[in-house]
Amino acid sequence: MKVNKIDHIGIAVKNAKERLKLYEDFLGLKVKNIEDLADRGLRIYFIEIGETRFELLEPLNENSEISQFLEKKGEGIHHIAVNVEGIEQAVELAKSKGFKPLSEVPKSGAGGTKVLFLHPKTTGGILLELVEGEHK
Ligand code: ZN
Repeated sequence: MKVNKIDHIGIAVKNAKERLKLYEDFLGLKVKNIEDLADRGLRIYFIEIGETRFELLEPLNENSEISQFLEKKGEGIHHIAVNVEGIEQAVELAKSKGFKPLSEVPKSGAGGTKVLFLHPKTTGGILLELVEGEHK
């Protein structure tokens, strides 16, 4: 597996419109696109900043993938994503090094990418996302 760069920083928000006051109105950044991942209960706002992105994660319903996070920890940084090549090897590699993948195979992520998360209990508190592919 080869690691290329920080792909994006995922930020959990309750109401993206409210938070865009910071990213758009204050920082002057632009939302490049908005994508609904219905199966994960998420609406994702991609905000480009240089070569990387902020990814605002807004819940679409109470059973959203980030509902528990928002309840327990409130809004804030949810995960850090690194862009990789060879994500298919990541599950076995992670396990062999003592890190716990959250799925047995990479899942389909936003923008046609493949993603794999590592459990924060095994990484020192960081929910680390591996992403393969460029967002279209
Ligand atoms: Zn992400």
